[in-house]
Amino acid sequence: MKKRLSKKLAKVDRDYCVACGACKDECKFGAITIKQGVFALINGEKCVGCGKCSKICPASVIKMISREVS
Ligand code: SF4
Ligand code: SF4
Repeated sequence: MKKRLSKKLAKVDRDYCVACGACKDECKFGAITIKQGVFALINGEKCVGCGKCSKICPASVIKMISREVS
């Protein structure tokens, strides 16, 4: 059975992410990795759209966006 994806998805503005890792620690779904120590990367397959990372980001660079429905 195909997994149902959430309507919302976290999106990081890589240009302003300071790679502090706070979002990664906050995400209980293991959807965030810090790429090359430079920026946070969200795994869209794992993100459930809870918005916790967005709230905790000290640089306010995570936005919750609507997922494209295909
Ligand atoms: S909490 Fe914000 S600044 Fe820190 S790694 Fe995550 S997206 Fe980047
Ligand atoms: S919105 Fe929730 S599930 Fe998605 S990356 Fe952020 S903390 Fe993880």
